[in-house]
Amino acid sequence: MTRVEKVDVVIVGARCAGAAAAAPLARAGRSVVVVDKSRFPSDTMSTHVLVPNGVQELQRQGALDAILAMNPSRSRFLTLQDGDVEIRERFRPFSGIDFGLCIPRTLQDKALVDAARAAGAEIREGVNVDSVVHTDGRVAGVRCRTKTDEYEIHASLVVGADGRRSQVAAEVGSWEPYRSSRNGRGFAFRYVDDPMGDDAPDAMQIYREEGDSVLVLPSCPAGRMVVVNMVDAALIPRFRADPDAEWEGVMQRNPRVRERIEGATNVSSQRTTADLASYYRRSSGPGWALAGDSGHFKDPTTGNGMRDALKFGRLLGETAAVHLDDPVELDAAVRRWEAERDADTISTYHWGNRETRPGPTSPLIREVLRTFSGSTGPNLSDTFNRARPVEAVISPRRLVVGLSRTLRTPGVDRGAVLREVLQEIPIEYGMRRHRLFDGFRSCRPTASEHPGAEFSRRPSVRTAQGDRPPESGRVSSPDGDAVLARDRQS
Ligand SMILES: Cc1cc2nc3c(=O)[nH]c(=O)nc-3n(C[C@H](O)[C@H](O)[C@H](O)COP(=O)(O)OP(=O)(O)OC[C@H]3O[C@@H](n4cnc5c(N)ncnc54)[C@H](O)[C@@H]3O)c2cc1C
Repeated sequence: MTRVEKVDVVIVGARCAGAAAAAPLARAGRSVVVVDKSRFPSDTMSTHVLVPNGVQELQRQGALDAILAMNPSRSRFLTLQDGDVEIRERFRPFSGIDFGLCIPRTLQDKALVDAARAAGAEIREGVNVDSVVHTDGRVAGVRCRTKTDEYEIHASLVVGADGRRSQVAAEVGSWEPYRSSRNGRGFAFRYVDDPMGDDAPDAMQIYREEGDSVLVLPSCPAGRMVVVNMVDAALIPRFRADPDAEWEGVMQRNPRVRERIEGATNVSSQRTTADLASYYRRSSGPGWALAGDSGHFKDPTTGNGMRDALKFGRLLGETAAVHLDDPVELDAAVRRWEAERDADTISTYHWGNRETRPGPTSPLIREVLRTFSGSTGPNLSDTFNRARPVEAVISPRRLVVGLSRTLRTPGVDRGAVLREVLQEIPIEYGMRRHRLFDGFRSCRPTASEHPGAEFSRRPSVRTAQGDRPPESGRVSSPDGDAVLARDRQS
């Protein structure tokens, strides 16, 4: 006989999305168990930037004080250098927080777990979830396995906060995204000690040159930093084969990067990935929800994955806490939560897809960037900071000004510029159409998305005899569509 425990909510995954969902549930007096196969502190693949809009989520989680006690660098500015364009902006504050952070995940995620525990959630480490339990057409729990034990946890709501290779997504028939985009770029990054010491600027810095885009990110503790190179994904095997030669190549192509980081000491081993396809999965259904990367992922260039996982983890917890006692209401509320997440993230998703194209900055893009140069207030940084939709920051007016300046630049290849404009117009149109008109879970492709994303590493689906996962395709709560339509009208 399998041992069965009963709680209000079981969450698989204890990092950004899982910890953030657990805390408000526990604060509302709900019984919540979070299981994670990792033991914390534990690292995960991430360059972990949070700008103020994301840092406020650490505060809401109750983790910010512990993180600030670790003596991290606080970055108040964003700078960008691209050819002869230089931009320096102070971040717009949110909830009184005017700085960004870049905390290694070993430290940050432990603080998130501690805060969820302090709120009253039970967090079990070293517990693997193999499959979910279905009862009467609903997801009703998970099967857990440790080195010494196997048991089930049954709950009114099962939350998959288990990342991009989500076992819960596979189990509920939502592994295949309903929209996705291949990523043309990969990441190679290292931790180093800042050679500028106390003179280092309190800024997250972006250096773009000849197709390289290098980020210099003050990290934690102060004086440590992360240097990230975003390159053509095809080059990642070369970075793996000979990191030092490739980093030397970056510095040769971009002397300003050399000036900034040469002489850095205490260099960590390099981490790389070219597995960065973006997507949306159906993220709610009867008795289940997918929070964080399990439901949605976008190009990390946007620096927004953790912010969205934290924010929509928290909102899921807050919503579920209210509706847990009525399954119909719960399913409808979780579906509304999914729609809200999508509306909030769509602009950034498309912006990320657009940024995944490797290659040098075109004259047109450089002139558009130049429109941000010399501005006194936050502007370009509003993209990362989610102060406005990206299309409102990189606005039609800026695009027209940039185009007219490019066409007036002596020696510019006007034919190439116009061909680029013809490529950009459908992207601009498609991003706006999707956000404003396409509706919930629209599969209609947009020009920002690059076909060919692969999601082949599907976890094995293991279900106990007699327990059938829902078929692939749409799984909707009984009155979910009606509730969404009503919400849209109001
Ligand atoms: C290269 C790279 C760079 C990035 N840089 C940034 C950045 O600068 N800023 C930013 O905001 N975002 C960044 N991101 C995105 C960010 O890392 C994610 O959005 C964020 O980690 C999502 O959090 P999560 O809680 O949803 O999932 P995860 O952080 O993936 O956590 C999932 C957890 O689930 C657990 N788990 C998985 N399966 C099971 C199972 N079967 N049983 C039990 N436990 C399980 C795992 O052990 C893990 O702890 C980056 C991502 C990548 C890949």
